Amino acid sequence: MNGSDGSLIHTENVTKVYNPRRPDEVCAVDKVTVGVGRGEIVAIKGPSGSGKTSLLSLIGCMARPTSGSIVVDGRDVAKLSEEVLTRVRRKKFGFIFQQFNLISDLTVIDNVMLPLYPGDMRPAEMRRRAEATLDGLGLLGKKARRVRKLSGGEQQRVAIARALINEPEIIVADEPTAHLDQTLSDEFMSILEDLNRQGKTVVISTHDALIYEHRIVDRVIAMRDGRVEDGTT
Ligand code: ADP
Ligand code: MG
Repeated sequence: MNGSDGSLIHTENVTKVYNPRRPDEVCAVDKVTVGVGRGEIVAIKGPSGSGKTSLLSLIGCMARPTSGSIVVDGRDVAKLSEEVLTRVRRKKFGFIFQQFNLISDLTVIDNVMLPLYPGDMRPAEMRRRAEATLDGLGLLGKKARRVRKLSGGEQQRVAIARALINEPEIIVADEPTAHLDQTLSDEFMSILEDLNRQGKTVVISTHDALIYEHRIVDRVIAMRDGRVEDGTT
């Protein structure tokens, strides 16, 4: 099933207020209505503080909205119990963060297997799957290295492998190229292109024009002060 407009993800007047009714109250996402179609690559652009991370957290079921609805694959996530929401998040989404969020003292393969815990998969199966994912990203030879010994580009690919380990339908990437140079950013975009060809839907936030104007991006949603600017959905 899909959202009311036929999208894989659909938000309707979704709002996120931090510290409600306090002096430091912030409306980070203000009545945002957007859709993401199955198989699309959508970029969310906007200056720092415009609400990109907050909107991605809502879309990725990492946070709950203050009001409004978010429908993922036909289900209104705002209405799900914590347990079901966690299951939806783990099953449907793979996350790539700006700081990579890897554990630098663990090996590459241990980092990649982290999202499989807790779970009922056998350790041998976990390894097999992690190795196949690393192989697809050209990192199998480095599986036993500690992450801190890798280059920035390699760390980025470990972060991608970790995002893929649960075989998610949707990749959510929050300013993933902010710490990468031009060559590595290009490499990152071509990995996204491959994943998209394999059927993954991609939502990426960025303030870098080279990313949101990249030929693989199907659509750009522009944010400012928590709102979507007119004409971009
Ligand atoms: P962006 O990712 O575009 O930089 P964010 O979603 O991080 O924007 O932030 C949007 C607004 O919400 C900013 O004013 C920011 O300071 C505020 N904000 C973000 N996270 C929190 C939080 N956990 N608590 C309070 N305010 C927050
Ligand atoms: Mg952000």
